[in-house]
Order: sequence, then C-alpha cells, then structure tokens
Amino acid sequence: MRAIRATDNGLILDTAAGAPTLSPGEGLVRPILVGVSRADIDIAKGRSGFRGIIGHEFVGVLEELLPAPDAALAAVERATKLRGKRVVGSMTIACGKCDMCKAGLPTHCRQRAMMGIMGRDGCFAERFAIPLSNLHAVPDAIPDEQAVFAEPLAAAAHARSMFRVEGKPFITVLGDGRMGLLTVQVMARLNASVRLLGRHPEKFGLCERWSIKHRHIDEVGRRQDQDVVVDCTGTPEGLELAMALVRPRGKIILRTSSMAPASGGPAPATPWGRAVDLSPIVHNEVDLIGAHAGSIAEALTILTRKDVLVEPLITRKVRLESAIEAITMPNAIKTLIAM
Ligand SMILES: [Zn+2]
Repeated sequence: MRAIRATDNGLILDTAAGAPTLSPGEGLVRPILVGVSRADIDIAKGRSGFRGIIGHEFVGVLEELLPAPDAALAAVERATKLRGKRVVGSMTIACGKCDMCKAGLPTHCRQRAMMGIMGRDGCFAERFAIPLSNLHAVPDAIPDEQAVFAEPLAAAAHARSMFRVEGKPFITVLGDGRMGLLTVQVMARLNASVRLLGRHPEKFGLCERWSIKHRHIDEVGRRQDQDVVVDCTGTPEGLELAMALVRPRGKIILRTSSMAPASGGPAPATPWGRAVDLSPIVHNEVDLIGAHAGSIAEALTILTRKDVLVEPLITRKVRLESAIEAITMPNAIKTLIAM
C-alpha cells in the first residue's frame, strides 16, 4: 500500500507500506479525502521528531472492524452499523483507563497517542486503523469535501465552549489562516460583535462574502476593549497583540501552538521562539485559556446546518502521488489529498 511517511530524510511516498493490522476495538478505514493541517506542514519542514505515516484529517469508508471481546453490546451494535459507511473521526487515541479518560476527557488521556503526530501512524495511507469509538458516521447531506473538515472544525468550535456569552461581547479572532477562518465563522453565529484581524487581502475577500468584519492586523488600535480575543496565529506576536487588545478581566483563548515563527526562517528552539512578557496577564487579570481538540459530533451538526462554510477554504486538491510537493506549497488555506 502507498502512504506518506515522515523519515529522517523528510517526507517520502512509501509505495511498499505494510497494510495495517487491527487490534481489538479497531476498524480499518479506506480514506477518500484527507486534509493537510499545520501539524503536517511542521512535520514536513522538520519541526517535529515524529516518524511514521502522517495525517489526521480524513473522510473515508469503514471497511472492516474487530470489536473488542469485552465491548458493551451497544458499542458493538453502533460500530457494526458503521461498516461500509462514510466516517470521520477524532485523532486522539485514548487508553480508556486513566483518570482523564474516566472523567470523560479522552483528549487529555495521560497515555494518549495522536494519529500522524505522536506515537501512532496517521491517515495519509490507502488504509489505516483507528479505534471504532473514535468514528462517527457522516450524514448523507454532507459531501466529502465538507466532511474532511470535521476535525479542524471541531477544534474551532471548541473555542466557543471556553466562555459564556453575556450581553453582546466584542470578540476578535487573530490570524487569517485555516483555523482563524473556521473560528471566526463559528464566533459569527453568536450574539456578539465579531471581527477577524489578518494580513492577507485575498482572505479578507472570504470575510466579505460571509459578511464578517475584518481589518489588517497593523491597522487596529490597542485599546484593551475586547471581551474575548481568540489567537489563532501561534506566534509570540499574536499573543502580545492579544494582550494589547483584551480588556481587563477579559479572556484570551490560544487556539494553536505552532512552532512556526511569524516571519518564516529557521525553527526556534522552543514553541514560542522567544520569551513573551506575560505581565499584562497579571496586571489586567486576564484569563489565558488553551483550547485544543473538540467534538466531532458537534462539527457534523455545524456542517449539517451550514453554519460554517468550509469549501471556500479549499485552495487545491491533489492526488497522493503529488501530495508531498503540495503539503509545503505556500499560500494554501487548505490542501486536500484525494486518496
Ligand atoms: Zn486515558
């Protein structure tokens, strides 16, 4: 089978990858479309120690399943109904036994692996194995090109669950990459005054079409008047701007922790690249909140309702044999790979 593999010499198209074997509780998925994420680009650029098959955003068909012998009857019935159906799924492989898993927080599992990122092969392959409990059926009304966004959309929607909307708050989303453009659409459905700050006029065109306010990041006052700032830049500059924009006792939600420096150039030694003065957090009593993985089921609901438009974010669609070149091509909002 063919797969995109991270090696010591960078990404390769492995044409002789071994077919995955199923462990109890897992299913075998044939991906239809996979999405390139920021994590994949970081791996491609050598900013991660991960070695193995990359990728964690997919829509595919569940071909085979091997229910665990001790699985509850309801879980086996649920999984059996998914056979032959289109599925999407969470990338976190949880142990199911630790205190976080028992508390219903599998994305914080103490022994977790993450598909294509940490400790587990990913989905940029002709077949891959995944726990059955990670999978969700895709409603017929959602085409493949939308369903493949389930995982990043779940993450974007998760930021919304981090604060309560009271009155009509002012919300700023920083960054006009794929995560910023998903997050701002989620926020725009709230009873709030929402704007996106970015640097790329071509992406403002999308906000224009969606009737979402937008400004160039260098053109805004730093008046500390925003109730919530969602930083999707993953840069020290983004966090510093967020601290300048948020009101005292407001909230900053960090949506990404990419290792990419804002200005390009070599990878920094630490995720933030340099020290950031966090004293405004203390002086202004700001809540600094991390938001990571969200609910795939919620993402599917959002797509069904057409609350967020994802297809305009697709910059290009390539076949597996052209994937490596496409993964690091600049100026992409979203690259999809047809398997
Ligand atoms: Zn666990």
